[in-house]
Amino acid sequence: MMRTVYVNGDYVPENEAVISIFDRGFLMADGVYEVTSVLGGKLIDFEGHAARLERSLSELDMPHPCTKDEMLEIHRELVRLNGIEEGLVYLQVTRGSDGDRDFVFPDRETTKPTIVLFTQSKPGLADNPAAKRGTKVISIDDIRWGRRDIKTVQLLYPSMGKMMAKAAGADDAWMIEDGAVTEGTSNNAYIVKDGKIVTRGLSSDILHGITRAAVLRFAREAQMEVEERAFTIEEAKAAEEAFSTSASAFVMPVVEIDGVPLGDGTPGPVARRLREIYLDESLKTAI
Ligand code: PLP
Repeated sequence: MMRTVYVNGDYVPENEAVISIFDRGFLMADGVYEVTSVLGGKLIDFEGHAARLERSLSELDMPHPCTKDEMLEIHRELVRLNGIEEGLVYLQVTRGSDGDRDFVFPDRETTKPTIVLFTQSKPGLADNPAAKRGTKVISIDDIRWGRRDIKTVQLLYPSMGKMMAKAAGADDAWMIEDGAVTEGTSNNAYIVKDGKIVTRGLSSDILHGITRAAVLRFAREAQMEVEERAFTIEEAKAAEEAFSTSASAFVMPVVEIDGVPLGDGTPGPVARRLREIYLDESLKTAI
C-alpha cells in the first residue's frame, strides 16, 4: 500500500517525496532520528521521544524544524492518514542543504533543517512471538564513535552488527567495550543477577533509551531492585536472565548469549513481568 509521508511541511504519497542530493543527512550522516511506537492507534512515550530529539538537536547545534506540538500533530496525522493500529512512526531531522557539499556546517540562519516522517505498519507488534520464544545474541566489539548518547543516523556499524548476528544464526549483537557490554545494536541491554536488574548507567557510551527510562521506573515502582552499572559478557552468560529494551520491541527476553543458554533457555520471569508491566502502563499514557 502506498503510504502518505511527511516532508518539510507537506503530506505526500511516498513516491513523490523528494530530498536534495546535497542534503547533509545523505552526504554526512548529519542527522538525528526518533522511532515512536503506536499501539491501539496511539503514540507510546511520545513525551520522552520529543525530549530526546530536542537534546540530540541541541548537542549537534542543529536548528529545530518545528515545535513539540507541531511534531505531535504530524505524528497523529500520519497515524490517521495511514490507518496505523500497531506500528511505528519514524522521524528524521537533518541539517539540510545549502546546495553543495562542504564539511563546514551551512549557515543556520539561511539553511533550514530537513524533516521527514513516515509510518511502518506492524500488526502484532505487541504480541511478537519472539518475546515468547526469547532471542539469541552474539557479542561483538563496539567500534562506534564516542557520542552514542546522541541518536544520530550513523547506523552502519549497528547494521553490520545485525548482519554478523544473522550470519551466526542469532537475532542481535551486544557490543563490548573495555570488557563490558555497552548496549545492543538497537536496544539497551540488561541482565538479572541475584534477582537484581543490572544495566549500564547513563553516559555518552550508550543511547539513553526512552524505553529504558520507563522500564526502570516501573521496575522500581514494583519494588524490583535495579543496579545501574557496567557488566561483562561473562557475567551476562552466567546470569539468571537477560533482556533488551527499545521503543519497537519493548522488553525483549534474551535466552542465549554467544551460544550459551541462560537458565533453562526460555524467557525468564523478570523479563516477562517487565514486558507485561511496560505494555500495560505505557498504554495508559499513550496519546
Ligand atoms: N540503544 C541503541 C543503540 C538504539 O539504537 C536504541 C533504539 O533505537 C536503543 C538503545 C533503545 O532506545 P529507545 O528505548 O529509546 O528506543
